[in-house]
Amino acid sequence: MNLPSDPDVVVVGGGLAGLAAAARVANAGKQVIVYEKRSDVGGQARSTVNDGFTLNQGPHALYRRGPGERTLAKLGVRIRGGRPAVKGRIVMGGEAHLAPAGTITLLGTSALSPRDKIEVASVLAILARFTASAHASQTVDEWINRSVKRERPSQMLHALVRLSTYVNQPDQLSAEVAIGQLQMALASGVYYLHDGWQSLVDQLLNRPNMHIVSGEGIEELPDARTVIVATGGPGAAARLLDRTFDVGPAAVASCIDFGVTTAPEHNFVLGGDTPFYCSNHSAVAKLAPESSHLVSAMQYLADGDEPDPDAISDFVRRAGVTPEDAVLTRRLHRMTAVTSMATASRGGLAGRPAVTDSGHDNVFIAGDWVGDVGHLADASLASGAAAGGAALEHLAGRKTWSAT
Ligand SMILES: Cc1cc2nc3c(=O)[nH]c(=O)nc-3n(C[C@H](O)[C@H](O)[C@H](O)COP(=O)(O)OP(=O)(O)OC[C@H]3O[C@@H](n4cnc5c(N)ncnc54)[C@H](O)[C@@H]3O)c2cc1C
Repeated sequence: MNLPSDPDVVVVGGGLAGLAAAARVANAGKQVIVYEKRSDVGGQARSTVNDGFTLNQGPHALYRRGPGERTLAKLGVRIRGGRPAVKGRIVMGGEAHLAPAGTITLLGTSALSPRDKIEVASVLAILARFTASAHASQTVDEWINRSVKRERPSQMLHALVRLSTYVNQPDQLSAEVAIGQLQMALASGVYYLHDGWQSLVDQLLNRPNMHIVSGEGIEELPDARTVIVATGGPGAAARLLDRTFDVGPAAVASCIDFGVTTAPEHNFVLGGDTPFYCSNHSAVAKLAPESSHLVSAMQYLADGDEPDPDAISDFVRRAGVTPEDAVLTRRLHRMTAVTSMATASRGGLAGRPAVTDSGHDNVFIAGDWVGDVGHLADASLASGAAAGGAALEHLAGRKTWSAT
């Protein structure tokens, strides 16, 4: 491969953050080399095809109209997928009930008593008007305990927060993140992507001026004009930069995908008082062969929790899926869904490091733990594009930079 000997920018890490950064730089006509230590690029956004099923690295949903979608649009990436209806069941007290997804299902569900329903409805009715950042220094537990008094409404709100944040540490996660994610979910929903999240990765690649070197881990900070460190979590970045970051803990989940040939009875089931989720992602996205279905299930792990594959398998029975009949089962025992969450004690999103906080003038950082915009992939994409913008400003000899 012919690599430029003096690239404008070197990016370390070929996940969404690194690729968004590289795409922004390449689109501006600058030469960029991306080094990725794995043989394939995409990081946590890779998808693999097994027996005709397209498998993401655990269940993945892209928030509609969020910072990630906006960033991708600016980079010329088209979103192709379907919008799942949150129509299904919520399991509470060992029983499956109609999942409340709007006013009618909230009124109709047997999961809540009439007084419970009034409490939940009163929170959801005003949620859209909340200023999420005003709750940055409150934990999710504190916010929910102030918002509702009864047990079931509290459990239900915690379940909705787990669903929309992938975090099961409500005693640490900033309520700003939870409120922001719930607002996006309720206003616009999510996409499940045709051909998996690999479709995003593939569209970010193959640009003029962008060179990918895969299978090459970078052990020392490259000596280049401008460098972007997008190595996933803060640990790998700290090692390369020889510094520490004051950041929140990771959020970890255990996932199992089931390929089945019988249509699930319910496309969506959420644990209301247990930390489980399962959803038929192929109901709206091209992820399974003809007449087959891909059901992705997850256990949201709290501090000290161990993955429990038997409990995940039992949970999918609630959707009418028989794990023993699956034609494909893929387990991802322990996955880091969020490398470092925005905590209340650090002041929420504003407490995360900025893309310029590398300790070097010509080095910028990106990932789901960087910048004050978004959570999960939204944060990776927004900070990646912002780091690309900062690198361009640096090359132009300007000190300032602008987020996308
Ligand atoms: C189970 C699960 C479910 C998720 N679900 C969702 C979801 O529904 N919605 C959502 O928005 N987000 C979701 N996410 C999060 C989303 O996948 C990530 O936020 C995003 O993909 C992270 O991108 P990144 O580039 O920041 O990091 P990564 O994807 O981790 O990429 C970093 C890359 O850097 C490479 N690298 C590391 N060190 C080096 C080195 N020294 N040299 C060269 N390369 C290096 C790594 O190999 C990796 O490819 C989920 C994640 C998981 C695990």
